[in-house]
Amino acid sequence: MLEVLPRLPDDPILGLAAACRADPNPNKVDLTVGIYMDEQGLCPVFEAVQQAQRQLIEQESSKAYIPPAGDAAFNTGIQQLVLGADSSALLAGRVSSVQTPGGCGALRIGAEIIQAARPNARVWVSDPTWPVHIPLLGSVGLRFESYRYYDAPSHGVDFEGMVADLKSAQRGDVVLLHGCCHNPCGADLELEQWAQIAEMAEQQGFLPFIDIAYQGLGDGLERDAAGLRLLVERLPELIVAASCSKNLGLYRERTGATLFIGQNSASAEALQSQALVAARRVYSMPPAHGALIAGRVLGDQALRQSWQNELESMCRRINTLRSDLRSKLEAAVDQDFSFIEREKGMFSFLGLSAEQAQRLRREHSVYMLDSSRINVAGINAANIDIVARSVAQVLG
Ligand code: PMP
Repeated sequence: MLEVLPRLPDDPILGLAAACRADPNPNKVDLTVGIYMDEQGLCPVFEAVQQAQRQLIEQESSKAYIPPAGDAAFNTGIQQLVLGADSSALLAGRVSSVQTPGGCGALRIGAEIIQAARPNARVWVSDPTWPVHIPLLGSVGLRFESYRYYDAPSHGVDFEGMVADLKSAQRGDVVLLHGCCHNPCGADLELEQWAQIAEMAEQQGFLPFIDIAYQGLGDGLERDAAGLRLLVERLPELIVAASCSKNLGLYRERTGATLFIGQNSASAEALQSQALVAARRVYSMPPAHGALIAGRVLGDQALRQSWQNELESMCRRINTLRSDLRSKLEAAVDQDFSFIEREKGMFSFLGLSAEQAQRLRREHSVYMLDSSRINVAGINAANIDIVARSVAQVLG
């Protein structure tokens, strides 16, 4: 019976990364997959994570399941990290959460809850959005509508278009928003724009669902969450999918959380109970290792400080790379690349055609997606000139 299933094509992003690994050119550059890489081109383990992990290994006396909602210290830590320790929703007890397998698990649990509340609800997604949003939410039964977001000519947010499109979002609809560091375009909303979205949600009654996978990698932990927090302060209900893959470097440990902000503590509790039942039918129990580490890092003053310092230096490095890349490109090509500096987080669309992106791979071994999305953190002192020169050549 299984022979009916054909071989499916490889994931396009992972396929490109594999092609880069197989490329014998010593000057190849991999700007494909969204992982943070340091000057040496390695994805580092945070010092605080290493320390917490050593403590955990010394002290862990059992591999029995952790509770279905996950580690309590982790849940407290992630709620405070995302919402702010002084969040009025938190203080009012209107928040609950469940630990999930990464941000993807968090999105999936959020989708299950939406589907339970409003079967086949309409989810508004930005154009473009992270492509994985579609299967993650769609496989639950949710339907999609897209709203204008990225304006290619100006390399910024088409906020007028976004507002015009979201005027049609109604009570019972969900609007998926990127909390910060938009993937793939790097163009984020200003705080006043978040305020306007909050007002629309209040008036029209749609439910915001916020995916925050890069908190700390745009403008710092607090500023990256400011828009999301504004919505939390103003709205009665909200779902947040948070990931610790990037900001704690726990990618393979699959560490994330779905946060529910309810009308009151009873509804927050009800939502958590629904999430536990949803988790039970999807993967049962969350993985423990990453969340036990993250819970320690977030809850211990010294580890937390060490982690924040390291995260801040990563964030500074990304922003320095953004300005360096802009200068190098502008020196090589007569074009305005100031948008690279305005954008946030790891991603940027360079504005090349698919044909030009393919030529970069073929002729220069510089790997980026056909959309010309680059992972800025893949750039370093050793390859930045190669990148700028190669881009100049395909543009010229
Ligand atoms: N949302 C977005 C926008 C992402 O880019 C990612 C990771 N690439 C995630 C969610 C989830 O990541 P993970 O499941 O690895 O935590």
